[in-house]
Amino acid sequence: MRLAIYSNNQKTSLEVTDQIRAALMAADNHEIIFDQIRPDVVISVGGDGTLLAAFHEYSAQLTEIRFIGMHTGHLGFYSDWQKDEVQALVASLLNEPGKTVKYPLLEMVIKYSDGHTTRQLALNEAAIKRPLGTLVADVYINGELFERFRGDGLTAATPTGSTGYNKSIGGAVVHPSLAVIQLSEIASLNNRVYRTLGSPLIVGPSETIKIVPRRNDGKEIITFDHLNQPSQNVEWIELRVATEKIAFTEYRHLEFWHRVKSSFIGPEVD
Ligand code: NAP
Repeated sequence: MRLAIYSNNQKTSLEVTDQIRAALMAADNHEIIFDQIRPDVVISVGGDGTLLAAFHEYSAQLTEIRFIGMHTGHLGFYSDWQKDEVQALVASLLNEPGKTVKYPLLEMVIKYSDGHTTRQLALNEAAIKRPLGTLVADVYINGELFERFRGDGLTAATPTGSTGYNKSIGGAVVHPSLAVIQLSEIASLNNRVYRTLGSPLIVGPSETIKIVPRRNDGKEIITFDHLNQPSQNVEWIELRVATEKIAFTEYRHLEFWHRVKSSFIGPEVD
């Protein structure tokens, strides 16, 4: 097995990375090759943000890679393991096949006015925001004009991304077994003159959301996960469920709703 460890730069994460390496090298009769370029398995050590960075580092090799998340803080949405479980993780890695679990991704295609297009994948979400002034954009669903949006911005989130930015702006938490994309509004203008749906909406796996910014001054910010794309001269942005998926190796099942409860609600109180 070719293995890469992708860590953030925090002291705890670097220590955990050393512990994983040491435990793997101490194991007898196991064919582990450390390979940061063409791994079969990537262990992300850090937070959910680190897993996002690992995903983008290896996004061109998704069909060959299985991810494993080790969180060095709390229980994460992309991490099954915590920092005091290095020995248990290494034992599972060496002795168990594990189950492959795949989650949907978002495809974002941007067409620029000179005719060229870019294509990005997002694990959490893509967003178009206008930090100064009002974003004005036409939203099409499956080619039909749905609404003219006015407000701070719009996000399109995957199910696993639904607990990130999407949740903070009032989006629903979506189970990752559903191959859908959720469009959510950031502070839309809604009054007698301007009208948007005013609630998040969820599109299915074969549907396309197209956003056409109306002010061509390049003052929007277009993000995908922690990254961004140039917003000058954007003709349109298309968003849909990607054909690719991200694969994780799961050695023990952690119920999605348990993660949600643990992260956002906490232990039961009397
Ligand atoms: P970041 O500092 O890497 O992350 C911001 C926070 O979001 C961290 O606490 C991170 O958890 C958490 N997070 C990331 N993905 C999540 C998910 N799928 N479910 C629940 N929590 C998640 O921020 P960034 O580099 O700017 O952006 C990375 C992601 O963070 C974005 O894709 C966005 O979803 C999220 N974010 C959320 C807000 C918000 O809620 N207002 C603002 C900015 C970014 P860890 O501590 O485990 O890394």
